[in-house]
Amino acid sequence: RIVYVNGEYVSEEEAKISVFDRGFLMADAVYEVTSVLDGKLIDFDGHAARLARSLAELDMASPVSHEELLAIHREMVARNGIEDGLIYLQVTRGNPGDRDFVFPDPEKVRPGIVLFTQSKPGLADNPAAQVGMKVISIPDIRWGRRDIKTVQLLYPSMGKMMAKKAGCDDAWFVEEDGVVTEGTSNNAYIVKGSKIITRHLSEDILHGITRAAVLRIAKEAQMAVEERAFTVEEAKCADEAFVTSASAFVMPVVEIDGAMLGQGKPGPVAKRMREIYLEESRKAAI
Ligand code: PLP
Repeated sequence: RIVYVNGEYVSEEEAKISVFDRGFLMADAVYEVTSVLDGKLIDFDGHAARLARSLAELDMASPVSHEELLAIHREMVARNGIEDGLIYLQVTRGNPGDRDFVFPDPEKVRPGIVLFTQSKPGLADNPAAQVGMKVISIPDIRWGRRDIKTVQLLYPSMGKMMAKKAGCDDAWFVEEDGVVTEGTSNNAYIVKGSKIITRHLSEDILHGITRAAVLRIAKEAQMAVEERAFTVEEAKCADEAFVTSASAFVMPVVEIDGAMLGQGKPGPVAKRMREIYLEESRKAAI
């Protein structure tokens, strides 16, 4: 694989990052994952805009312009011959040459940028979408700025492991009052009748790029959408559930904490949203 490190395209074996890089030592870094279908980028502008916001919230300068970022993404797709897959991008505060809690002077230490690709042939035809996912709920003990897409992914990783041990596919984070925030790496939705319900935006969840697209598409299709908090108990009694993310698109959920939803199969709203989302985003891909 060819990876991108601070201005250079190099083989993954040659790529080097300092042991003093703050992304490595302090999780002082933000990231984005953009999917590629038919060699084209899905929702690039949304991911670029969220990256800019994450960086601004952490007082980090962007190492590249919007145009450069697009050019680098395209070059990575071309150099790695990606038809379907993912592009991972990380921006770190950089390498101050020592370990210190205090942010380095931005005049002296420039942010670092890394990209790599993951080839996933048939990404949009994931057979899991036909079966649907089983999720468990676990306490949301993450920090309070989940709207910033940082690389602090230890607890989400632990959540996926808890799900795996329970024989399930993923976990939904739940606050003390039983309210669902989001999935370990996706936004969470329930469907009641034909109404789609998903948590409102705040600092408590990541502002999903796929979420924004799906809600826009749902509204255009005259479907009822309610952005509000819902509890796990309400979710267990819902007609359907699903999650959205750049890598899974729209993925049906058929079981929550052992309670089967509907017929235990992906519901019509989730299936329809997946179809329309894939169709629309392929059309708009660049
Ligand atoms: N919520 C969390 C915690 C995530 O990690 C992700 C994606 O990585 C999402 C939601 C979905 O965001 P997007 O649709 O932009 O991929």
